[in-house]
Amino acid sequence: MGSHCESSVKIPPIKFTKLFINGNFVDSISGKTFDTIDPRTGEVITKVSLGDKEDVDLAVNAARHAFDYGPWPRMSGSERGRMMMKLADLIEENVEEIAALDAVNGGKLFTLCKAIDIPGAARTLRYYAGAADKIHGTVLKMSKGLQGYTLREPIGVVGSIIPWNFPTTMFFMKAAPALAAGCTLVVKPAEQTPLSALYYAHLAKLAGIPDGVLNVVNGFGETAGAAISAHMDIDKVTFTGSTEVGRKIMAAAAASNLKPVSLELGGKSPLLIFDDADIDQAADIAFRGMFYNKGEICVASSRVYVQEGIYEKLVKKLVEKAKATVVGDPFDPQVNQGPQTDKKQFEKILSYIEHGKREGATLLTGGKHVGQKGYYIEPTIFTDVNEDMIITKEEIFGPVMSLMKFKTMEEAIKRANNTTYGLASGIITKNLNVANTVSRSIRAGVVWINCYTAFDVDCPYGGYKMSGFGRDFGLDALNQYLQIKSVVTPIHDSPW
Ligand code: NAD
Repeated sequence: MGSHCESSVKIPPIKFTKLFINGNFVDSISGKTFDTIDPRTGEVITKVSLGDKEDVDLAVNAARHAFDYGPWPRMSGSERGRMMMKLADLIEENVEEIAALDAVNGGKLFTLCKAIDIPGAARTLRYYAGAADKIHGTVLKMSKGLQGYTLREPIGVVGSIIPWNFPTTMFFMKAAPALAAGCTLVVKPAEQTPLSALYYAHLAKLAGIPDGVLNVVNGFGETAGAAISAHMDIDKVTFTGSTEVGRKIMAAAAASNLKPVSLELGGKSPLLIFDDADIDQAADIAFRGMFYNKGEICVASSRVYVQEGIYEKLVKKLVEKAKATVVGDPFDPQVNQGPQTDKKQFEKILSYIEHGKREGATLLTGGKHVGQKGYYIEPTIFTDVNEDMIITKEEIFGPVMSLMKFKTMEEAIKRANNTTYGLASGIITKNLNVANTVSRSIRAGVVWINCYTAFDVDCPYGGYKMSGFGRDFGLDALNQYLQIKSVVTPIHDSPW
């Protein structure tokens, strides 16, 4: 495990730090700010306006007005799509600057933000922009002398509460389908990573998206976030984050105006590697599945089950990969793994590692923090673990893998399903029958066969069980921001 700390990329000046309400950057009503931190050092990058309930109210009023009276839901879908395409272009024109914001704010690898996250946002916008003029209902030939049709109407004002691990992807995963549907939004980015969201608000204005349609309120979960989930004038909440907060959001939605919610929560996803797998390919998939984005990824393959015939060889390869990982400054192109996003997360991961050791698991490699400052942790692999251990049951959300051995497919399926979560899963095998049987037997929203974290905007994605409900991405996500109205009329004297 090397560490490397030289960066040639200059961090751009931070241009946007206020709340974005009704098309303007404004101070919070209280005038308060909070520090946003660089996880490479633990030092303050800048101060950002701190939104609270009153600021959420202002943003909701703006979004409500834009929805009830403004042009956005009333214009043609192709016109909405045109502005979303323009926003996609503007994102691509500013890719370097935005990538630097996500890297400095979230400890994410600059090169990957530039190559994947930010272009992915443009692609997501274009996908839903293309769908915006294809939203239509059906004609119903009803019985009893009636004729009907359905309208698919935008659901209204959407509250979007998002986490810090993929600030850009999460922003557009929710905002793009909501905008295409004709909804207006109040977005609350995670308090750890507000910077790129504010940049997107600025670009949305440049793209011509009308004032009030896309509002951004920075702030903490218990205040700004809670105000969104309890708001009487928000028509839907979409959330990605922890299961614990998902419960609170659902309870607040039920206790207020019964707004529908969609929840994308945590995971403890199994990856099953069978004896016939190519060992090098399997090791690549398993390693990347777990350690991509320093393990801060809800679909992480944190439980890896390896069939006994290849177990020893695969363990050796995974340990070699962990040892070869360069942990360091996410702006340095030679670095493979940046710092964890914040101090709380950093401490939580280290405490899980200690817990794993106390529970009797064998620490094969890693386990320690790296360097004197910043939130760096070595890629960590445990073996001699079982499904009863805390480190195998709970989402760690950091670079910690549990490796387990299995004998038969039936055993592997049973153990893979022995979890309260059901977000993602993976299978590595050349045997089509095994792949098909396992994919039908696993209770999870995604099954990746001979690949992992293979996301694309056209593939719906979301959880089973306590990993939540509702789907992001794909046309299924668009449906979450639409509701169906049936229109019925009598039809007299028709011979048909
Ligand atoms: P979190 O669930 O607390 O935060 C996610 C978002 O919810 C943030 O915007 C936060 O401000 C907001 N929030 C927090 N409390 C709220 C409340 N009472 N009402 C409304 N909104 C609220 O996540 P975290 O504390 O940052 O991380 C804790 C754990 O959550 C992680 O260790 C990980 O296991 C999990 N997590 C999962 C994902 C995912 O992609 N599924 C992302 C981030 C974190």
